[in-house]
Amino acid sequence: MFKPLPYGRQDISEEDIEAVVKVLKSDFLTQGPLVGQFEDAVAQYCGAKYSVAVNSATSALHIACLALGVKEGDWVWTTPITFVASANCAIYCGASVDFVDIDPLTYTISVEKLEEKLLLAKTTGKLPKVVIPVHLCGQSCDMEGIARLSHEYGFKVIEDASHAIGGKYKNLPIGNCQYSDITIFSFHPVKIITSGEGGIALTNNVEYCAHMQRLRSHGITRDPREMSHSPDGPWYYQQIELGFNYRMTDIQAALGLSQLKRLDEFVKRRQEIAKKYNELLFDLDLVIPFQNKETYSSFHLYVVRTNQDKRNSHKELVERLRSNGIMVNLHYIPIYHHPYYQVKGYNPKDFPESEMYYSQAISLPIYFGLKDEEIEYIVEKLKTPINFQTIF
Ligand SMILES: *Cc1c(COP(=O)(O)O)cnc(C)c1O
Repeated sequence: MFKPLPYGRQDISEEDIEAVVKVLKSDFLTQGPLVGQFEDAVAQYCGAKYSVAVNSATSALHIACLALGVKEGDWVWTTPITFVASANCAIYCGASVDFVDIDPLTYTISVEKLEEKLLLAKTTGKLPKVVIPVHLCGQSCDMEGIARLSHEYGFKVIEDASHAIGGKYKNLPIGNCQYSDITIFSFHPVKIITSGEGGIALTNNVEYCAHMQRLRSHGITRDPREMSHSPDGPWYYQQIELGFNYRMTDIQAALGLSQLKRLDEFVKRRQEIAKKYNELLFDLDLVIPFQNKETYSSFHLYVVRTNQDKRNSHKELVERLRSNGIMVNLHYIPIYHHPYYQVKGYNPKDFPESEMYYSQAISLPIYFGLKDEEIEYIVEKLKTPINFQTIF
């Protein structure tokens, strides 16, 4: 028997550990030289000009919204099928959130639905200031379509690429911000690479970068050009707006830098695992992940869907797998189901694809250290209940 298999987990090497220990013996524990090195390395990997590392992707989303001017009275749109942080960031800024239903094939924000909703919002004067597409599972959204609409309707775009570092869109790394204003990544342990906790915002806009750097550290500037008068002396700094303590530590940056070296290897293995699942699940009554030819997914998640006619088997299948030590999960509960959002008055009927997805999706284990025999064990346990179901 195997010990319980999580849906995802980190892979920490001796080299990672040494990199962290080295920082502990150095002069800088919090934001020091390694944070800058990590920022440069991620920006270079992705082909973006600037980057701002912070203590989580949630913080990155918050300061990204602020840098794009999101405030009370504004609308921010995202997909319902994402982690709550993709929507909460707008509420932190006093803005309102609305959702756009998902594409039935890729489960990411539907560009057709987005266009329909924009047309309608134009007539009611409720166009969004920012749209936050989420690269669910690590597969890029249709960024070209979203960018086209952003130019037509004048909204800004933040890519929530928490799942997607190491992935590509049209043969270029996700994070290059060719089709967006800001892209954010998460380095939570369950994501592709980790810094313990951590996140980063990438942009090609020098002003957004400077603003996010300031917001990360209390709204304080040490740049005389940003001050209301020339510095009182060498000790001087000014708080020129309300910011936060969202700094990443050098301990985290050291781990992140060390993990970044293995990013391509991590994604390659995730791709292999996905391929193996695809092959083994081929003759099962399950929908395997659709891959858009223009994308190369980092496969943060491997999501299968149960057959439409056997809706009742979904929960039973999850329970069956879990009782066999396979800790499958569901990413995600549509955000408007959560009580905090429910009271804001969303109508689930407006999001039929998200509702259907929620009744069918299961995230199977996928992570660098998952062994081939474990994949075979998972598939074997998947087969039993499904064949069982088809008999009755
Ligand atoms: C993990 C995740 C976040 C939040 O990341 P943290 O680094 O934990 O704050 C935001 N959006 C999505 C889609 C995520 O998966």
